[in-house]
Amino acid sequence: MSYQVPRGTQDILPDQIHKWHALEDLIRQFCYVYDYKEIRTPIFEHTNVFKRGNDASDMVNKEMYTFTLENSSTSLTLRPEMTAGVVRSYVEHKLYGEADQPLKMYYVGPMCRHERPQKGRSRIFHQFGVEVIGAKHPLLDVETIALGWSFVSALGLKDMKVLINTLGDDASRDAYRAALKQHFAKDIDHMCADCKRRYEQNPLRILDCKVDKESAIMKTAPKMKDYLNEESKAYFEQVLAGLDALGIPYEIDDQLVRGLDYYTHTVFEVVSLNKEMGAQSTVFAGGRYDGMVKYFGGPQMSGIGWALGMERLILACEAEGIALGETESLDIYVLCLSPSVSVQALQIVSACRAAGYKSDMDYQERSFKAQFKTVDRKGVKAVILLGEDEVKANMVTIKRIADQKQVQVKQEEMISCLDGLFQEETTYDCKEGNCTCHHEE
Ligand code: ATP
Ligand code: MG
Repeated sequence: MSYQVPRGTQDILPDQIHKWHALEDLIRQFCYVYDYKEIRTPIFEHTNVFKRGNDASDMVNKEMYTFTLENSSTSLTLRPEMTAGVVRSYVEHKLYGEADQPLKMYYVGPMCRHERPQKGRSRIFHQFGVEVIGAKHPLLDVETIALGWSFVSALGLKDMKVLINTLGDDASRDAYRAALKQHFAKDIDHMCADCKRRYEQNPLRILDCKVDKESAIMKTAPKMKDYLNEESKAYFEQVLAGLDALGIPYEIDDQLVRGLDYYTHTVFEVVSLNKEMGAQSTVFAGGRYDGMVKYFGGPQMSGIGWALGMERLILACEAEGIALGETESLDIYVLCLSPSVSVQALQIVSACRAAGYKSDMDYQERSFKAQFKTVDRKGVKAVILLGEDEVKANMVTIKRIADQKQVQVKQEEMISCLDGLFQEETTYDCKEGNCTCHHEE
């Protein structure tokens, strides 16, 4: 029997991890300057955290990994998204009582959805997302979009577009829902099974249907914008004005309703226009939600958030030829000239590591030639040669690979000698005037 990962899941192997670290580092930098703090919630929650009332979304109805353990009646669900868990936590810990509102949070972690696996769609994937809870202002909507937009721009992505729409407030949405029901009433019997369910539960979601998307009845459907009351219109206009002020390009998409049921006012998707992304082109998406904090037992407070698919972001970067992070090299490799000196080699490696140099040695008693192949493969910057003669004389031989410069020093002087060699190397490697090194006149 052979063992394999479950369908729709994948391992992230050590030779790919530099991409993830590069993304995670940049995420932390961006959230730091925007003053968003990380929140970590459990990977599973009580099922009713995600399955709330009459939710018509596919994610809640078809894609959840829900389980009950033997001898237990508690139904648990692996999180398919983070917003519900974050709001649950915000209410459970009474974070609405903190002096500084809104609370600005971000998260990074795996989500699980039972979907048909394809390019850009898997059953365990990672999201970076933000949630800002406790204030409602159009410019906050703009701020969250700006965070995501500047993050993807900093990575170098260019083929991106913001699609934006408004779902208005409750009153506007009620009027629109009634109009949609009337519009679809005589055709609903011929529409797909999901649409029939949506018609009853939340007719807005019919507009998100991928099956009947091209049909005439869909194209002639009433538009949200014709049902917005003055307040909702004004809110949306301020969001657009904020995006204009920050120079963020957008397109109004009046068919955009988003996959989750809890949105009000602003909804948006940031999509990659690169052809290689195929149908899975949405990199991040989100919107404002008004009823969730109250639903979980807190006061009436509004929130806004989005989530970004990290695997999709990596695909978008690859499609645009953007390299993420660097495959790392090794500073120092201690070359053992004889297995009899391996304990001393270990002491030397430890001393180099303690001084902050990324260092390694051979643990397989390989030949000098084989050890040197590792030096080549790993892009080592300097080797320390250690044989019986060196050990007897309490010396080491240090060789800088770039220019083959070689020096013999006492072991006590090894670190200061390495410091000198590495310092010299950065000065000597850089293009003068185009670097941060100190250049002597
Ligand atoms: P889609 O319409 O593609 O199914 P969604 O509306 O279900 O997307 P959200 O719940 O808003 O997506 O999730 C936010 C982001 O997470 C998506 O824009 C996408 O980048 C990513 N994402 C969602 N589902 C998956 C998945 N199964 N595999 C990989 N990434 C995903
Ligand atoms: Mg989905």
